[in-house]
Amino acid sequence: MKTREISYDTWITYGEGEERWDKMEKASSCMDSTAMEMNDAFDATGQYQHMTARQVLQNCGWNLRSAMDRAVEWNYYDWEYGRNPNDLSIYASPAYSHYDFGMTQYLISDDEGIEKFVDGIIGDFVSVPYTYDPRFRLNNPVNTILTKSTRCPKNLSSNCIEILLESGNTVFAEHAILTASFGVINRTHRTLLPQGFPGRSVLDKFTMGYFEKFYFRFRNKFWDHKSEFILDSMEGHPVLMWHPRPHQQESQEYVLQVTMTGEEAKTFVNWTKDEIQNYLMFRLDLLYPGSFTGADLVDRYFTDWASSQSYYGAWFEYGPQASPADYLQLVQPEGNLIFSGEMSCKRYYGYVQGAMIAGERDANQVLAKLGKEAYDDRRCD
Ligand SMILES: Cc1cc2nc3c(=O)[nH]c(=O)nc-3n(C[C@H](O)[C@H](O)[C@H](O)COP(=O)(O)OP(=O)(O)OC[C@H]3O[C@@H](n4cnc5c(N)ncnc54)[C@H](O)[C@@H]3O)c2cc1C
Repeated sequence: MKTREISYDTWITYGEGEERWDKMEKASSCMDSTAMEMNDAFDATGQYQHMTARQVLQNCGWNLRSAMDRAVEWNYYDWEYGRNPNDLSIYASPAYSHYDFGMTQYLISDDEGIEKFVDGIIGDFVSVPYTYDPRFRLNNPVNTILTKSTRCPKNLSSNCIEILLESGNTVFAEHAILTASFGVINRTHRTLLPQGFPGRSVLDKFTMGYFEKFYFRFRNKFWDHKSEFILDSMEGHPVLMWHPRPHQQESQEYVLQVTMTGEEAKTFVNWTKDEIQNYLMFRLDLLYPGSFTGADLVDRYFTDWASSQSYYGAWFEYGPQASPADYLQLVQPEGNLIFSGEMSCKRYYGYVQGAMIAGERDANQVLAKLGKEAYDDRRCD
């Protein structure tokens, strides 16, 4: 299917785009309520039905008929999930996040967002008297976590956790909270985790959403900077979304951003930076023939979440075969090791608020086990 150069401003303002956008909005909200009903039914009865998001969207009246449809669906669906509706179970809907927090994730993604959020966290830390524990530091890579260690020191119980660091040091702890992404767990569990952890048998039912961003700074602006987004797809090539006015770069002139999502976002894994640049410039030249040369490009920055050892993807998602029962198994603790992070927040996984609330929940669980003052945080349920 070919959608070559469709401007976002055009497709939501008039004609076929507007009509199909309305149709997608209705189908999407019907899909969200279906997902919420199916999740609630599982909570109440333990029963579930396997359905892909695509099947539910179709039942909700959405059919892919034209290139415009694919553009609208890509923008509405693939963008938010980092995958397409065939690649996801209906239980993957971020409906609860949108219902509770609104479509715009104010915590991170708008003008008031990320800085306010990060400042808040930093403010909290600097205002609390903090004793630095030299055994830990940020991003001190962990190689292995053992839950039934036979080497527990005398001051800890026999359920203690042994953590082997890449530095060669070993840390023992009564409890541990793991926040590594699902991508990391999936890729490294054989060496990272105890072999008997309950989620092991359902790992292949889950997946990551993929999303990559590429930034180019030019000497001048030759592109149509009045459009908000330009969707650019060609048969046999990955779909690209050009951002003529990337919002994070408002203060910076002449920056053009392009994003890729879903499995296609993995296209450039193993490519060199120059190969990626050449390919993207080839696509850009098709959009704006003869408008620029290589000498007009002054700077570039590319993300690589798909192959980053720290993430292996952008965020957690339910693959097409995943059920809510599989999910509960995936996030089940193993001894005194708690699986936390965004993936463990059933209601808000995939978002920063999920990561944050899960962290508070799990810190409280540990405090409770240690007999300290704590509360039972159910916001992720
Ligand atoms: C492109 C993109 C856009 C997004 N947009 C939004 C948005 O608009 N709104 C929103 O709410 N959310 C958004 N998210 C999702 C959000 O960023 C994540 O849900 C959130 O950051 C997850 O936080 P976390 O603490 O669970 O995990 P992470 O942020 O993944 O933190 C886990 C940490 O563990 C470390 N780690 C991994 N393995 C090891 C190891 N072996 N040893 C030691 N450390 C290790 C990693 O380095 C990392 O620092 C976006 C994500 C991406 C990639």
